[in-house]
Amino acid sequence: MTSFESEIATTLEDIQTFFRLLAENGCQGFECSKESLDTIKNWGRKEKRVSETLEVIRTDLGDCRRCRLSEKRKNIVFGAGDPHARLMFVGEGPGYDEDQMGEPFVGAAGKLLTKIVEAINHTREQVYICNIIKCRPPGNRNPMADEIDVCFPFLKRQIASVKPDIICALGTFAAQTLLESKSPISKLRGRFYDYMGARVLPTYHPAYLLRNPNKKRDVWEDMKKLMKAMGA
Ligand code: URA
Repeated sequence: MTSFESEIATTLEDIQTFFRLLAENGCQGFECSKESLDTIKNWGRKEKRVSETLEVIRTDLGDCRRCRLSEKRKNIVFGAGDPHARLMFVGEGPGYDEDQMGEPFVGAAGKLLTKIVEAINHTREQVYICNIIKCRPPGNRNPMADEIDVCFPFLKRQIASVKPDIICALGTFAAQTLLESKSPISKLRGRFYDYMGARVLPTYHPAYLLRNPNKKRDVWEDMKKLMKAMGA
């Protein structure tokens, strides 16, 4: 229990004692319904709602034909890693290698992401890796707004299923989409934002780092914040 949680527990106990004393002294009008008592009993506890599994979401996605990207893709790149990971990485969309293999971040940028994951003392299997869109845009062009619109609900369901504590948004598209922002990644990176019960930390995309190795230092600063937030 954190010190904040134990302070709340003590305060609740004090309130209970106070009302009990009032009742014992004949004061009336403090009776609660059973629902209210149940709600009070669960105050401060993390909600344990059963969410749909990633398998259900993948099955629902099926052989997706919801947008034009389905015409040229070879494979849908759904996501990979621990279905209950505390840490999730969200990139932009599959490139050539990912489209060929049906796995996220397996090309040159993916190799650098693997190094970043290992630098923060994790393996790829311990985190969950996915993208804003699940099919490769032809020629690796930027995803279009209507393509993101149809694909994004599946990512939201993945987030709700995995329930990560932290989502590391890789690059402009991931950060701007998750945070509904138009700000450049250089402005968004390095800070935490709340999203769907998780904390989102935007940082530079590994593909950008391959072109701008001098930005690796900034990413390492972001990863140190990430490790701290994870209690590592
Ligand atoms: N770039 C991305 O944004 N995602 C991948 O899966 C690969 C490269």
